[in-house]
Amino acid sequence: MSYKDYMVRATAADAQIRAFAATTRDLAEYARKAHNLSPIAAAALGRLMTGTVMMGTMMDNDQDLITVKMDGDGPLKGVLATADRFGNVKGYAVNPYVIMEPNASGHLNVGGGIGEGTLTVIRDMGLKEPYVGQVPLYTGEVAEDLTYYFTKSEQTPSSVGLGVLVERENLSVIAAGGFIIQLLPFAAEETIAKLEENLTKFTSVTDILKAGKTPEDLLNILLDGFNIEITDKIDLNFYCNCDKDKVERALMLLGKKELQELIDEGKPVELCCHFCNKKYNFNSSELLEIQRKSK
Ligand SMILES: [Zn+2]
Repeated sequence: MSYKDYMVRATAADAQIRAFAATTRDLAEYARKAHNLSPIAAAALGRLMTGTVMMGTMMDNDQDLITVKMDGDGPLKGVLATADRFGNVKGYAVNPYVIMEPNASGHLNVGGGIGEGTLTVIRDMGLKEPYVGQVPLYTGEVAEDLTYYFTKSEQTPSSVGLGVLVERENLSVIAAGGFIIQLLPFAAEETIAKLEENLTKFTSVTDILKAGKTPEDLLNILLDGFNIEITDKIDLNFYCNCDKDKVERALMLLGKKELQELIDEGKPVELCCHFCNKKYNFNSSELLEIQRKSK
């Protein structure tokens, strides 16, 4: 596929439905490479980043940030993604190297990898307290968990589909994407019935994207028979805003004593950004300077 990652937002059926669809192969592949993710971790994080970046565009203010995390008792332990409202997203898997047998249907067993636990959505809107919503994990397969979250925590009947297809030979991501379809409160019975019929017939996000189709095509299939109006098209990027200053501030929080121990070891310290795996090195004189500035 030659096009770059993007998403579209749309309304349909005279604004009884709002819809989001994305192609995210580049994002998922970038994350896979940056974090050296196993196929199952690449699928889990790719799905979560796709859902999160679409949810990010639902926010109202430019400074707003959304973080979605899944914590479970399975070997993957958890995945986390953070997005703004402009299509920038980053994320990481707690345990990136897990390898597992496929599930009964021959797919990557993301649900089994995550296990039982919770899905937490944190909206930071620049206020003192962020808005936090939490639900138990439904299947751990990500899309069903977000569907459950929207319905349970936000009282918005929704259908979420997410997919990441990993190539068996070289383990790269060959297709990824997803959709969120939401019913607005005044949706008519026949709209709901028709939408349910479409969703039942729907096959899989990655089958469609792999065949060279676009997010617009996804919506045309999902919302077949409705009048669709595409309202926005947004470029998507894996974006991390870490820099040496931020890492330095994190080091400062260690405190004078811990920093002294690092200095006494006499070796440079290397720290990695959780989100993008970029490495930051601090030599002894930098560590001394940080210690001087710390409390
Ligand atoms: Zn980073």
